[in-house]
Amino acid sequence: MAISPRGYLGRLRLGDGRVNWAAAVDPDFVRSHAGILDALRRIWQVSDLDPDELPDEGWKGTPRLTRCRPVQEGSAFSVGDAAGFVEPITGEGMSWAIATGVAAAPCVIDYLRSASMTNWTNAYRRLMMTRRLRCALVAKALRWPKVMSAALRLAQMNPTIGHSMVGLLISDRPGHYA
Ligand SMILES: Cc1cc2nc3c(=O)[nH]c(=O)nc-3n(C[C@H](O)[C@H](O)[C@H](O)COP(=O)(O)OP(=O)(O)OC[C@H]3O[C@@H](n4cnc5c(N)ncnc54)[C@H](O)[C@@H]3O)c2cc1C
Repeated sequence: MAISPRGYLGRLRLGDGRVNWAAAVDPDFVRSHAGILDALRRIWQVSDLDPDELPDEGWKGTPRLTRCRPVQEGSAFSVGDAAGFVEPITGEGMSWAIATGVAAAPCVIDYLRSASMTNWTNAYRRLMMTRRLRCALVAKALRWPKVMSAALRLAQMNPTIGHSMVGLLISDRPGHYA
């Protein structure tokens, strides 16, 4: 993974040998380059990696990632990314989508039975507030290269500390939402 104050880009080899690339980048940073590929090559390059490694084609965009919206509007209940998204850096989006889907189910049933306003907004806040805040803090820390490199150096020097740091930043484990 290559990290810069304006975005991050990662590469992963899948079990079947295919290589998967993904990035989250500040739109202004992309606009100030000749295109998405040029912007991503720059991020790769500032991490002393070879920009020619990036594939020329196959990049797909998403709507703006960071967003926040009311999670219940009348009979519409939002879960997962539709309820709001911080940044993909902690890799929790899928577990959040599943967790909020599971947690919304009883609220939807209540709503269908009583047709009255349910407390999905409060339930969502209780479930997600700390998680979203933690993710936002991690995303903020990325904008401080000195903080990041000190943390990475510490993790490299002492893998036990590194493991504990990751545990603090991403505390979602199976059964954690029960
Ligand atoms: C670059 C990047 C890297 C990421 N890395 C990770 C990671 O490592 N780990 C992780 O857990 N998460 C990661 N995420 C986040 C994760 O992909 C999402 O948080 C997760 O997929 C959210 O699930 P969802 O079901 O809420 O939304 P989605 O997966 O977006 O599903 C919504 C579905 O609804 C469909 N849809 C939209 N509108 C309509 C409509 N009007 N009618 C019918 N269907 C519609 C869409 O086509 C889509 O299939 C990453 C995201 C990005 C952008």
